[in-house]
Amino acid sequence: MPPGPIFDNSYARLPERFFARVSPAPFTAPRLIKLNAPLANMLHLDADWLSGPEGLAFLSGQTIASGSDPIATAYAGHQFGNFVPQLGDGRAILLGEALDHGGRRFDIQLKGGGRTPFSRGGDGRAALGPVLREYIVSEFMAAVGIPTTRALAAVATGEPVYREAMLPGAVLVRVASSHIRVGTFQFFAARQDTQGVKALADHVISRHYPEAADAEEPYRALLDAVIAAQAGLIARWLLVGFIHGVMNTDNMSVAGETIDYGPCAFMDTYDPGTVYSSIDQFGRYAYGNQPNIALWNLTRLAETLLPLLHDDEERAISAAQDALGAFEPQFTGSYHAGLMNKFGAQTLQEGDAAFVSAAFTELARHQVDFTLFFRGLSSAVEPGDGDEKVRELFVDPTAADAVLAQWRARLALEPEDASSRGRRMDGTNPAFIPRNHRIEAVITAATDRGDFAPFEELMAVLSRPFEDQPQFASYANPPLEHERVRATFC
Ligand code: AMP
Ligand code: MG
Ligand code: MG
Repeated sequence: MPPGPIFDNSYARLPERFFARVSPAPFTAPRLIKLNAPLANMLHLDADWLSGPEGLAFLSGQTIASGSDPIATAYAGHQFGNFVPQLGDGRAILLGEALDHGGRRFDIQLKGGGRTPFSRGGDGRAALGPVLREYIVSEFMAAVGIPTTRALAAVATGEPVYREAMLPGAVLVRVASSHIRVGTFQFFAARQDTQGVKALADHVISRHYPEAADAEEPYRALLDAVIAAQAGLIARWLLVGFIHGVMNTDNMSVAGETIDYGPCAFMDTYDPGTVYSSIDQFGRYAYGNQPNIALWNLTRLAETLLPLLHDDEERAISAAQDALGAFEPQFTGSYHAGLMNKFGAQTLQEGDAAFVSAAFTELARHQVDFTLFFRGLSSAVEPGDGDEKVRELFVDPTAADAVLAQWRARLALEPEDASSRGRRMDGTNPAFIPRNHRIEAVITAATDRGDFAPFEELMAVLSRPFEDQPQFASYANPPLEHERVRATFC
């Protein structure tokens, strides 16, 4: 068997109007920055081959594997609430679907791979900074078990890209269950192309939700499944302090994976209004607004499916509303259970919502670091010394005492003993997250000095987010005032 990946491209067998065939751009001097060998192994790709010259030619789009049929996919989308009928892959080239030994298929896409018919005025390129940011953050999400696209490799193209300054160019080799977005459905719906919507829905069912095919109403089951996946996903984001930053409908995967890491960031001090994205002027995609936006996006998805839900429009609308009505309880159920788990509780009790809301009011009022607070709680499971770790996170440490007292009163209702609880909490609440100031430092070192050592070190720390790693303790710290990053860019 050849060492290169075994490729197919089922998406390229969909009707011609779903995509455009493209060739990746030629790059004169591609160089491998990083190969994700554990991911390669997991996908049964040959990591040795990938890190050699033939692998580099494949990862940079310079040679095309047999069975691969590179395309740029068509999609539309609501950007900050405004509908754009045609977006599409303007700087991403889908090489196709690699097949693992179990016959599972996963997309391999070159982000920054060159211009396509959807590029409009853009150059089809990616700058090194955003490639590193996506690599770091998507791999962290995977490390904490949050559904996400993955980074198989980062490749330097050896060519400059022109943004506000001249920057080194790079390609992110992205792996995903698929790259089908809410906006892909909108592309066809906006053209009243019901046959297109149906062909896409059938493709998504067979690829992601095969059980929906056996349901009495397969398209309703598809909608239910996407809603459930997104409700669970957004809950997971909030539990780890993640802010996507650009939750446009074209950046929402129907497979339920986090996708399109642009100006994303993690919250340091707890504040539901937190926004980092420089393009999110009005806080549409603020930390605490993400569940509302997810539901808004899913409503747009449901609209595209109306003709498939029922021949009678009113009955279609009522089916869609019924499906969408499940989002709130599903999200709240996952989020609430997840939060109680972060607090070390394994049961749900009456009064939990009030307990959480009182605690979060104090966290916001006293500018407490979200990650360190929950990580700190596990050292305070036994009353005593550990309290200091939590107290020092509060602007006024005495305010922590009431929070700790209420927390202990709540935990008194739990059957579990303190030591096993502490261990379990450490496996739930990460010690390390990709803090913005650390990502910025990595990007600056790589972009300005060609120094990838900080990137490698940050990746190493974040690959074991639940371990204390005392030698890297400073990576757990929030930024000092002068290190604070106020805006992120895509
Ligand atoms: P994003 O904001 O990254 O989700 O991208 C929104 C749209 O802009 C998508 O259609 C992208 O393909 C397109 N796009 C973003 N950057 C570029 C670029 N450098 N060249 C061409 N198209 C781009
Ligand atoms: Mg075509
Ligand atoms: Mg996008």
